[in-house]
This record gives sequence, structure tokens and C-alpha cells, in this order.
Amino acid sequence: MTELASITKAELEELLSEWGEPRFRAGQILEWLNKGARPDEMLNIPKALREKLGALPYGGARLIEVLHSKKDDTAKMLVELEDGNIVECVLMRYSYGNTLCISTQAGCRMGCAFCASTLNGKARDLTAGEMLSEVLEAERNFARGEDKKRTVTNIVLMGSGEPLDNYVNTVGFLNRVTAQDGLRISPRNISLSTCGIVPKIYSLIDDAPHITLCISLHATNDEIRDRLMPINKAYRMDELLPAAKHYAEATGRRVIFEYALVDGLNSSKDCAKELAAKLRGFNCHINLIPLNSVKERELNGVSRAYARTFAEWLNAFGLSATVRRELGTDIEGACGQLRNKRSAKAQAHQDNGENE
Ligand code: SAH
Repeated sequence: MTELASITKAELEELLSEWGEPRFRAGQILEWLNKGARPDEMLNIPKALREKLGALPYGGARLIEVLHSKKDDTAKMLVELEDGNIVECVLMRYSYGNTLCISTQAGCRMGCAFCASTLNGKARDLTAGEMLSEVLEAERNFARGEDKKRTVTNIVLMGSGEPLDNYVNTVGFLNRVTAQDGLRISPRNISLSTCGIVPKIYSLIDDAPHITLCISLHATNDEIRDRLMPINKAYRMDELLPAAKHYAEATGRRVIFEYALVDGLNSSKDCAKELAAKLRGFNCHINLIPLNSVKERELNGVSRAYARTFAEWLNAFGLSATVRRELGTDIEGACGQLRNKRSAKAQAHQDNGENE
């Protein structure tokens, strides 16, 4: 049974025709769903139909807590799924609009050595409707009064989880969020970040050719990457880089490589040189981030000043590279700091056990 939060217009029309309801209701209902409304709030829908819709599973997410950064205007949202899993998303404000970083899985099974999201493994995949709900809950919570403009103008799939390990739901989400009868967010304002699941990068060329593909590279060769990212055992860099290049060529879109600078591991001038040799002649950009510390992890980042020097080396070697602004570090909202809280109750239990 399709859940309301994930339903497409075609599915809704089919359901309405089964129920003997007029087809035009599909558009009305979808408009409500696109605002995050539940059936009992759908005022222009007859009560009997609202009740029928209300009896269907909804399958969305609900905002339960917002943490505001004291350092910048970033807000971290804790969103609860219907089974009690809690995922985090982050709203970042920029001069050009607001970017929402959403989670695609509760937890993650990719096991990257520097990341908090993977510490407890994966609890489960999020559905398309749950991802959509993250956006709608942000819209509802941060709406700007009378201003009818959308609050969330840009979306990055860079929260917890590996989007290409949850491929069908992720593509379903991308379709809904960009659709004319969906949220109408331009695919050009959406970035998807992957640790490098190569076959799915090829699939994205057909399924999502207008988004920005970001690849978490973090290394200049397999030896270094093996130490940081288990996925590199399955897909080596000599498969990953051609896939990225193919994506750039087939879609005409510039590919972004994310590169977290780890002190003493991937941040020397020789590393900059090796990286440049591998990426030169490629329509790409490198986003550098000093690795954020995660208390359970032993790896250390570099200073921002050092990161800028690394960017200058890359520039001198012919690559486009910048240091990414880091927001929300004080609310653990920065890259790699998001966690799967499992359920509120389980978490409270665990916190008590650990802290006393
Ligand atoms: N699974 C996807 C998206 C989630 S992670 C991926 O791997 O790309 C979003 C980004 O944050 C990735 O580039 C990831 O490598 C990076 N990241 C994870 N932990 C980090 C940390 N401690 N410091 C800086 N970046 C980190």
C-alpha cells in the first residue's frame, strides 16, 4: 500500500478512481500534501474523503526538536519517523537562499572511518515520502510569514546515510521534489553526495541528469582511501574517477569532489600534486573541508588556514578548488557529525547509562 507522504499524482488518481471520486481531487489533495498537511487539514476536500484518506498510512516524518547554532544562523532539526527512528537535517542560510541538508537513511552502513553517522550502522532506508517530509517540516517550521516564497531553495543529500545505497527511494524523492505537481525545486539546486557506488553513478545519468553530483573522495590513491572508506575495497579509484568523468561528460554538469583534510594523511603538498594529476582536464571542482572532529574517531583535521594553503596548491596545479564554509559546528550540525538517534526513548536510556 502506497503511503500518502510518498504518493505520486498518477497513484493518487488511480486510487480516487477506485473509490469513485472525481479525478480533479488528485490535484487538490497533492497541493495539501505538498504543504505537509495531513488529511484532517484538507479543508476543500469533503469530510468523507478526508476520512478515507486519513485511514491510509501516512509514512512521513515529524519535527520534534530544533537546535539553533549560536555561531551562525544554522539550525539542526531532529525529525521523528513513524517507527520511532530519528534522523537529523540541517538548514543553512546563505545570501542566495536556504539550503536544507537531508538524511537519506537512519544511520549508515558505509563505515567511513571519520564519520559519526555510521557509528551504529544502518537502522533502515528512508522512503521517498520521509525525505520529502524532511523538506516539508523545514518549510512549515521556518516559513517566512506572509512571504509566499519557498523557505528551502536548495537541497543537499548530505545528511546521514548513503543516497545511492537507497537508490529507488532517493530517485523517487528527486522526482517528487522537482516535479511540476510536486515542490518544483529546480534540479540544479539539488546536490547528491555519494561515497562512490560506481554502478549507481552510471544509473544517475539517466535518472537524475540535472542535479549536481558530489563525490566524497578524501584521498589521492587507493592506499589512503582504503584506510578511510571501506567502499573503496569494492570500487577502486580507477573505476570511480572514470565514472565521475563519464557523468560530467554525459550530463554537461560539473562534478564536485569533496575532500576532507586529515592531518598527516592526505594533506601534504605531494598529495595536492597527485590529486591534480588525477583530476586535471576534468570538468570538476574540489570542495575542501578541514576534517571535523567526532569524539569517537581518532582522526584530526587541519586548520582553515592550512586548508586555504592546500587550495592554493591545487589552484597552482591547475585545479578549481575552494575551502567550504563550515556551519553549525556548535550544534553538531556540520559534515560528518549527524547521528542516528534511533528512538527518543532508547536514546534517553543510552545517555543516562553513558553519562552517569
Ligand atoms: N554518504 C554520502 C553523504 C553523506 S556524508 C557521502 O559519503 O558522500 C556528507 C559529507 O560529509 C561527505 O563528503 C562525507 O565524506 C563528509 N564527512 C563525513 N564525516 C566527516 C567529518 N568528520 N569531517 C568532514 N567531513 C565529513
